[in-house]
Amino acid sequence: MFRAVWFMLLLGILAITAMWFADNPGQVSVTWHGYVIETSAAVSVGAIATIAVLSALIYRLWVFIRGVPAGISWFRGEGRRRRGYLALSRGMVAVAAGDPGEARRQAGWANNLLEEPSLTMLLSAQSAQLAGDEDSAHKFFTKMLENPDTEFLGLRGLLNQATKNGDNYQALKWVRRAYQLKPESDWVARTMFDLAARAGLWSEASSALATAARKKQVNSAEAKHSRAVLYHQMSLEAEASCDNAKALKLSKKAVKEELEFVPAQLHLAHLLMSSGKQNKAFITLETAWAATPHPGIAHAYLSFTEANDAMARMKAAHKLAALNPKHLATKLMLANCALNAGLGGDARKILEEVSALDEAVTSNYCQLMAKVEEAEHSDIIAAREWLVRAANADADPSWVCQDCGNAADTWSSLCGACRSFDKFQWRRPSRVPGLSAPIDDDPKAPRLVSPGTRLAQEIDANGIEH
Ligand SMILES: [Zn+2]
Repeated sequence: MFRAVWFMLLLGILAITAMWFADNPGQVSVTWHGYVIETSAAVSVGAIATIAVLSALIYRLWVFIRGVPAGISWFRGEGRRRRGYLALSRGMVAVAAGDPGEARRQAGWANNLLEEPSLTMLLSAQSAQLAGDEDSAHKFFTKMLENPDTEFLGLRGLLNQATKNGDNYQALKWVRRAYQLKPESDWVARTMFDLAARAGLWSEASSALATAARKKQVNSAEAKHSRAVLYHQMSLEAEASCDNAKALKLSKKAVKEELEFVPAQLHLAHLLMSSGKQNKAFITLETAWAATPHPGIAHAYLSFTEANDAMARMKAAHKLAALNPKHLATKLMLANCALNAGLGGDARKILEEVSALDEAVTSNYCQLMAKVEEAEHSDIIAAREWLVRAANADADPSWVCQDCGNAADTWSSLCGACRSFDKFQWRRPSRVPGLSAPIDDDPKAPRLVSPGTRLAQEIDANGIEH
């Protein structure tokens, strides 16, 4: 609309100008180097306008011709870039499809055609890894550390390589650098926590755990449990350094974080007992039993009472039992105590009561029944039958690694078989052979076992008190 009005206006001005020149033709005379040109003013104005238009056109043409080489170069560059990105995308498809030869070829093309090392370097590293050439991949990842744009990606690649090689020292080195660069990144804080914890660097692990919890990368229950484990480990370390006050303080913190964490409860009871606070030690174990009945707690509780008085132990066992009367562990503790006090009939009654439960008739249960048969009626044949059943019965619960199935008598923060951190849970081990191998004897593994857990080890190794 505006253009049409503008056009009409221009046309009007031209018409008025032409009419004005027609009414006032005038005369123009030019003398130059002996030549005389005489014409009307209208023709002169027309000639000047024509010369101006021609000059503008010639100038445009000159600018165009001058820009041709740059244009050709731009088109060439654009084509090169397009081919580079095509090679890059084909390379990524080849990596995803698991075709190392094609991935490497396309990575080479992309590298030559594009000037974007952040993209091509990663593809080169991935294609090298796909071809099993870890050394080349390592070189690419290391090269990526030189560029701030690719440093984080390079660190992740190097971290993965170190983890795959089982080189936790190097892995920790790379993850520390990544943690400094991007502590809020999704995977960094968790990996930092895991590696620092495996290395026994409790403060560093605590800091990473706090970041992961703040970023909701771990849920609150998981964070509480991990804090309990870290405090427990720090307490063991303090005790090993003969700083019992610090050990006690940290142990209380561990228990406060997670009441059901049995190793921390046992350690706290042990520390209280050794510092002369017998009543508090008993209260700790009673609270622990009410929350999570565990044979180690019963053993510690009874060992803190009169060691040689079976009836006193029986009385203590009943006091503890009242806190969690229906639990299977309570029944087994009472049966065991009754047997030790010479009350075979009571022991039989308790054991027969729980025999209907699937999880009750374990190897340990059968051994107790064999003792009852022998103690009550001196029935050697029946006792032997129970011992045969014991050999084929389900195994009793123990500390089982959730990652590899390794079963251990004692809780520890690291699995001796797969080196995972904090994976032991109290449950029945697998019946599959090989998944219940004993903890290996790695000299690098932490050897921080509290006397409390030693008590648990003794009871778990020997069954529920004999
Ligand atoms: Zn394991």
